[in-house]
Amino acid sequence: MLPVIGLEIHTELKTKRKMFCDCKNDSEEKLPNVNICPICLGHPGTLPSPNKKAIEMVLKVGKALNCQFNEVSKFDRKNYFYPDLPKGYQISQYDLPFCFNGFLKIDNRKIRIRRIHLEEDTARSIHFKDKSLIDFNRAGVPLMELVTEPDIKSAKEARKFCQELQLILKYLEVSDANMEKGQMRCEVNISLKSQNLGFKNQKYKVEIKNLNSFRAVEEAIEYEIRRQTELIKKREKLIQETRGWDPEKKQTFSQRFKEKESDYRYFPEPDLPLIDFKKFNLEKIFLEIPELPEKKKERFEKEYPSLKKEEIEILIEEKEETDFFEATVSEAKNLLKGKDISGLIRVIINLMLRDLRSLIQETKNSFKNLILTPKEFAKLCVAFYEKKVTSPIAKKILKELYGKGYSFEDVFEKEEFSVIENKNELEKLAKEIIKENPKAVKDYLSGKEMSLNFLVGKLMAKTKGKANPQTAKEIFKSLIK
Ligand code: ADP
Ligand code: ZN
Ligand code: MG
Repeated sequence: MLPVIGLEIHTELKTKRKMFCDCKNDSEEKLPNVNICPICLGHPGTLPSPNKKAIEMVLKVGKALNCQFNEVSKFDRKNYFYPDLPKGYQISQYDLPFCFNGFLKIDNRKIRIRRIHLEEDTARSIHFKDKSLIDFNRAGVPLMELVTEPDIKSAKEARKFCQELQLILKYLEVSDANMEKGQMRCEVNISLKSQNLGFKNQKYKVEIKNLNSFRAVEEAIEYEIRRQTELIKKREKLIQETRGWDPEKKQTFSQRFKEKESDYRYFPEPDLPLIDFKKFNLEKIFLEIPELPEKKKERFEKEYPSLKKEEIEILIEEKEETDFFEATVSEAKNLLKGKDISGLIRVIINLMLRDLRSLIQETKNSFKNLILTPKEFAKLCVAFYEKKVTSPIAKKILKELYGKGYSFEDVFEKEEFSVIENKNELEKLAKEIIKENPKAVKDYLSGKEMSLNFLVGKLMAKTKGKANPQTAKEIFKSLIK
């Protein structure tokens, strides 16, 4: 049996203002009902006026996803009754979405995108044991809806689609698309095509709502495939319905039988004019689209052949991190004045992915908010590459640069971090260590190579990490015979 899967994905756009009024669009606001006005509360007699920035954002997404555009578009009313929808209708788009007929490639397979349109978000209902309360801060926030064709064939592929889309939305800076925060919400449509069962294809599809993580998308699809397969095997009839997801039980459950489109009585929004895209400077809007993850990945593979595939994946996951990497490379090139820097690339990536990343994680910081500049970081990488500092010292210096924003020279000169090159000095210390550790010496003489590392470690400790470990090793070897 073949799974047939289509996605409907809603994303809150990060404009400054709401979609049809001047209220602040602030998804971090903790106090309820502060960013509200008569328009987003749906008071009679108020008039909406569209947010041009939100429209431009949707156009950018459409362009990034290879869509076509309607020359003229409009908004429509989708009528239904629910407490979080004060007007009794949602302003959405019906037959003339801004964008249509696009695609996104997942592992070289095209998943077609049917349409991308713009609508307004509803208020947020908060349920208690004995009552429900409504927070209207979210009411009227610009909400983009993207609908795919049912081209997706597995739970993994659906998850990858959502992840790739999220990354593109972040690169475009149209949304933070955080699923846990509800900024990106996925609905999955799924049915099974039964083959060779001597059983007519059933016409049904199940919609799963309220999936608020990538893992939930994947697990809910896996569960549904199992559930539907069993029913088909038992020759039971599958019904068209909407199901919810219980992340604890890892099960879907029936919520309601799906309403038909005609239930919504769509009609054109009379309070908003037609949107004529000839009046938009599309070329200028599209120029703001940065290099997108897929293209960047291809370029990185060509331009930095010493990077591993997984390293490129990690970098690409955050635009700011890739930008930091490339800025560091370009600073390092300046420092080395045209010399071959391919070896240095490995130093940069290692210091970034291991040490800089763990500092960022420890301090709950992000690449966006670093005080450390690519220039200072590049100086450190070059010093390490040219063996002017050892690995433990490089880490120490990085900590200083990272936390305090000093320049590399300040730290390097003040703390005398440079490698001890003086062999006599190292030999003197090594002799002391040999005296203090007779057992390790004996072990080494009896063939235990590990004991040499122990002695080198002692010397590193004595010099506060400033000894060149290779030189130290050689000194011990020549002293112990
Ligand atoms: P509806 O009119 O019920 O909303 P649509 O045809 O508009 O249905 O499709 C909604 C979503 O369902 C789309 O993402 C689409 O890809 C998906 N879809 C359509 N047919 C199927 C199917 N047979 N199985 C799974 N998903 C489907
Ligand atoms: Zn408002
Ligand atoms: Mg639909």
